[in-house]
Amino acid sequence: MPIPIVDGHNDLLLRLWRGEEPRDVLLDQTAESGFAGGFFAVYVPSARFEDPTEVPYSVPLAQPMRRDDAARIADELTDVLFGLERDGRLRVARRAEELLEAGVCAILHLEGADPLAADLSDLEGWYDRGLRSVGLVWSRPNAFAEGVPFRFPATPDTGPGLTEVGRALVRACNRLGILVDCSHLNRVGFFDVVEVTEAPVVATHSNAWSLCRSTRNLQDDQLDAIAASGGVVGVNFAVGFLREDGHNDPETPLSEIVRHAEYLADRMGLDHVALGSDFEGATMPVELGGIAGLPALVDTFREAGWDESSLRKLCHENWLRVLRETWR
Ligand code: ZN
Repeated sequence: MPIPIVDGHNDLLLRLWRGEEPRDVLLDQTAESGFAGGFFAVYVPSARFEDPTEVPYSVPLAQPMRRDDAARIADELTDVLFGLERDGRLRVARRAEELLEAGVCAILHLEGADPLAADLSDLEGWYDRGLRSVGLVWSRPNAFAEGVPFRFPATPDTGPGLTEVGRALVRACNRLGILVDCSHLNRVGFFDVVEVTEAPVVATHSNAWSLCRSTRNLQDDQLDAIAASGGVVGVNFAVGFLREDGHNDPETPLSEIVRHAEYLADRMGLDHVALGSDFEGATMPVELGGIAGLPALVDTFREAGWDESSLRKLCHENWLRVLRETWR
């Protein structure tokens, strides 16, 4: 039996909404891979984003979405998720205990709060549908906050912090028991969340900036704040956020994922490191492929000296703890 993996981020819903074949999250490979599910992003795409092919790069900040467009597309993406549930391919999680039940469990995650009304009047409706995680922003501005543009090398200190309604959204998520995700958020906004939130601070799919100087990664004092809050960072497998040289090179060894996880564990402690693949949404190491490569990834950690207790924390226990503490 492979070790169960709860994963911080995948873009399967976007892939299916676009009518494309899944590449990484093949739901008929879940049993042998150990993939137990995790965060399934409802991400309303900006104009098609291509991974930068040269380094250094500085991609302009994406344009804001019109809220009614974002709400309509988010509804369609959510329908894709519930279609998978109706077909018996997965279950949508409402309580933390459900995560490791048999089969695949999906956390309904909004990657960017763009579809939400600025007066938050629809947040409870979203919660009732199953929403359990909100990333305040993707890499663009919205009514709540501003995301980081994709730059390398550059720090995540790229713009202003949360708006007043952004702060209100964090408090409303705390009240309802919805996880607040800081991946894609800029540095000032991140520390605004740290100041406002009463829940563990989380970055579902980000890496260590000290090892890879992408705006999408987290600086050491951000890692310290996450650890102090009891939160977690999901290591992102996107090669451009792993490699020291920032290249979008699929010939990137699995040891790069271990390198980031070890840095995060050294800085924050083993209770604060998890996985956040970015499957279906980014360039993965060819050696991994999709979820079928997860047992090989776990073996790479074993070869690097990770014992079974540490692996359980990394692969699911840390996510489960944070969800138990955050959800109602
Ligand atoms: Zn993302």
